[in-house]
Amino acid sequence: MKAFSFSHSALDTNALRVALEDPTAGGYASFEGWVRNHNEGHAVTRLEYEAFEALANKEGERIVAEAIEKFGVVKAACVHRVGSLAIGDLAVWVGASSRHRAEAFAACRYIIDEVKHRVPIWKKEHYVTGDSGWVNCERCAIHGMEHEHVHSHEHEGPRLSALGASRNPDQHVHSHVPARELSFPASAQSLEARARPDYSRQTALRDVGESGQRKLRNARVLVIGAGGLGVPVLTYLAGAGVGTLGIVDGDTLDASNLHRQTLYSLGDVGKPKVSLAAARLRALNPEVNVRTHQERFSASNAALLLADYDLVVECSDNFATKFLANDAALAARKPAVFASVYQYEGQLQVYRANADSACLRCLWPEATRDGLVGNCAEAGVLGPVPGVFGSLQALETLKLLLGLPGLTNEIVLIDLLTLEQRKLRAVRRAECNHEPVIAQAQVQPSLEVSFIDLSPAVSEGYTVIDIREDQEVRDLPIARAPSTHIPLASLLASTEPLQRNERYLLVCARGSRSRAAAEHLRERGFTQAYSLKDGLAGLIGK
Ligand SMILES: [Zn+2]
Repeated sequence: MKAFSFSHSALDTNALRVALEDPTAGGYASFEGWVRNHNEGHAVTRLEYEAFEALANKEGERIVAEAIEKFGVVKAACVHRVGSLAIGDLAVWVGASSRHRAEAFAACRYIIDEVKHRVPIWKKEHYVTGDSGWVNCERCAIHGMEHEHVHSHEHEGPRLSALGASRNPDQHVHSHVPARELSFPASAQSLEARARPDYSRQTALRDVGESGQRKLRNARVLVIGAGGLGVPVLTYLAGAGVGTLGIVDGDTLDASNLHRQTLYSLGDVGKPKVSLAAARLRALNPEVNVRTHQERFSASNAALLLADYDLVVECSDNFATKFLANDAALAARKPAVFASVYQYEGQLQVYRANADSACLRCLWPEATRDGLVGNCAEAGVLGPVPGVFGSLQALETLKLLLGLPGLTNEIVLIDLLTLEQRKLRAVRRAECNHEPVIAQAQVQPSLEVSFIDLSPAVSEGYTVIDIREDQEVRDLPIARAPSTHIPLASLLASTEPLQRNERYLLVCARGSRSRAAAEHLRERGFTQAYSLKDGLAGLIGK
């Protein structure tokens, strides 16, 4: 006998009971749910049950297994009728056999309650008046929803017709009813009523509910970077009703961002991303308090920014910022959700701010340099890749806020080309120094300098070092100023050709490799190593 099943014909309770008999069992309890002749003031003549069987069977089996585990019963099972039922018919049967009666009662009760909450089964009631309607009133009872009636001839969703609802224009349908499957078109919303945020599709989850929604409403989340990763993070967190969302980003929108940053429009190119994102998010959910920080996340503002938030989602496109966010989160003892993507691959890590939580540096003690890995601008990326990882970050964030199980001391690596996924253990390293990095970083003079032409840089005493690859130099040589070509890999391997008292301006295509290289040199005593902000792409004349 299957633990959970549907039956298209009348149930044989005797046969069902016999299947639960066991010589070790001293108690047996069963529950029967019958079709009654009224519901919520309507006189009901008969009803029909429809189930989404593939999904329902799995969830039903899970529920019975949970009951067996939870209450230690010997055997348990549940059968639900589908199809057309008359008044008095047995609609659902639950049985449990156990050593003692108490467990059997408890298991029965658990199973029927959970089945009513979690299994996608819809009931269509036929009323004395000739009307009929799909209802699932358990859901309304639990979540205190109002029944909103809509005229089905105007608003009937496609799935509703598939379920066989009549096209009688006077028919009333519970609009929220087939909550899991049916969604009415936007026109189904009452035209005169101003739409309000509706979290019912997430509060319907047992693990969320109204108390989970309150947790989200009280949460304050800082999102670093409003780009490829940040856009899905911000969108989902705003949609979920996270009470306060902070956005840190100093960039303006570039047309090349749009293939992966779906919150923005072509007409917005050139405008600051924080303002664009804030406007869209406020329109998406006016209940969310969106705060903008139009600046680059840096050692000088990190601690101050974090102070106002409970959790950090790191969505920048460079490792310098990721490690800075890591150090700031550790110093503030606040959880942080990290992701990074490279071409078709990406990785996800969560720092949970516990004593044994592994951080980014526990995994990468020698902070990975951007130049060695590349970012979207230089390495290229398909839009959905950051989309997937940003969505995963949003998911892990919601799980953290809701207290659901999530990624703990592991790193997830996904290759989106092959769709292969790997999980690596991330162990908190005792020797990982979690404190003083920020303090060090704060005394550093600024690493980046901006020029729109290289000749003034040369007159100011900078020696220009082109750290790009041979091929890049051939494709786009630097013509307007004298420069020395030392590819990044050679520079990382040896600083031999450089003088510690010299002032260097490191140059790459877009400024991320050169920034990493300048940091590398600074750490080795080259106190006057600078990076050309935005790289050659930021220059007017090359
Ligand atoms: Zn660590």
